[in-house]
Amino acid sequence: MHIMKEFLKGQRIKTVSGRETVVHEKLGEFPRGMVYEVLRAEPGNGHYVLKWYFHGPGPRPGGSGRAVSYKNFRERVRRKIRKGAPSGDFLWPVDIAKPRGGRYGYMTHLIPPNYKNFSAFLRGDVLFDSVHAITEAALGVVNAFEALHRKRFCFCDLDESDLFIDPQSGRTLLTGENVGPCDKKPKTACTIGYMAPGVVSGRELPGVYTDRFSMAVLLFRLLFGDHPLEGKRATLPCLTGKLKRDLYGTGPVFVYDPEDDSNRPARGVHVNLIKRWPLYPEFVKNAFIRAFSGEAMTGRGAKARADEKEWGEIFTKLRDVAVWCSCGRETFIDLESPASKCINCGANIAKPPELRFKKRRIALFPSTKLYHDRQTAGEVVRHNLYPDRWAIRNDSGLSWTVIDPAGSNKTIGRGQAVPIIDGLKISFGGLCDAEIRTE
Ligand SMILES: [Zn+2]
Repeated sequence: MHIMKEFLKGQRIKTVSGRETVVHEKLGEFPRGMVYEVLRAEPGNGHYVLKWYFHGPGPRPGGSGRAVSYKNFRERVRRKIRKGAPSGDFLWPVDIAKPRGGRYGYMTHLIPPNYKNFSAFLRGDVLFDSVHAITEAALGVVNAFEALHRKRFCFCDLDESDLFIDPQSGRTLLTGENVGPCDKKPKTACTIGYMAPGVVSGRELPGVYTDRFSMAVLLFRLLFGDHPLEGKRATLPCLTGKLKRDLYGTGPVFVYDPEDDSNRPARGVHVNLIKRWPLYPEFVKNAFIRAFSGEAMTGRGAKARADEKEWGEIFTKLRDVAVWCSCGRETFIDLESPASKCINCGANIAKPPELRFKKRRIALFPSTKLYHDRQTAGEVVRHNLYPDRWAIRNDSGLSWTVIDPAGSNKTIGRGQAVPIIDGLKISFGGLCDAEIRTE
């Protein structure tokens, strides 16, 4: 057996771009190598992560395929560096470490310490602070996939270790390691469980449509923890290759398929799912029922799988109806009904005032935030002089125009607030219009 020699602190590593980096400390190991924090040798050039492979980046454990040669690896990473990161939501390679003793690697920016790996959330080691953080994370994932596909890249392979989330804000980072060009057949096998059934059974090649399946699995697990295809059928003591192919490939059944209850979650096993599924509003559950219907998974529906825009609308809507109950926890408001029950304490919550846009309705509760392009644009606050009255404070850089039912106008600048009064119309800097409704 070959014994891996580790880098020592202070050791210098040359990179393809001609720079030199200095090993700072070992951050961890993964099945195919080690991860180090390195410093650029020139002063002030910052800290990076070096992913250093024993035998080149081959398939993940359990996958098939061979390790790639340094030349292929270098070209693949170079292409990514040239194309640039699809968006700021990615951990993208920035440089390539020159080979040493047949081993090589690449560098990315450092992951900020407040970001935790999604696998830690799934193990229950890290918990989201709020439903708002969960919806932010879901929107982050959706936006990242959209940016990726716009650059004609796809995930050739994806699993929970590729996602990092700040549990407080819900901000996300995805690794670009297993991303490849959309039109190329991947060299390595993908991780079963996130792969579209068509890819598992060999009927589909990885691409935008199969990515949308992987994205739906990731989104499902963000909300419910457990896997959408792992119900009773996955609890057999020994899942052979054939059974696995059936479960994820040829005969997948969604755990809450309304027409097929053969794979319902098992009590005592899929605890999170059984607890969380009933809590979410119908429109969210219906989106997953559609995404994991037989038609969308193995039928002709692959190209009709919900895209990034549709998922974006669903999670924006979810964020808009998540409010804080007086019990101190979050719940969802059904704006169609006169009252909603808190999912935690069961208290009745009367329908709150709402902001009605052409296509959206936002429940207005103290501390409800308004967003524009994922930035906070406003917040519902208590009135300075009359604490029992609420108002919407303008936190954006744009001026809002408020029109009262009599037709008179008023401009509301940053830091100023609009009282929540029935019939007031607000134009948000000309970007969109909405009306306050309190009945
Ligand atoms: Zn409550």
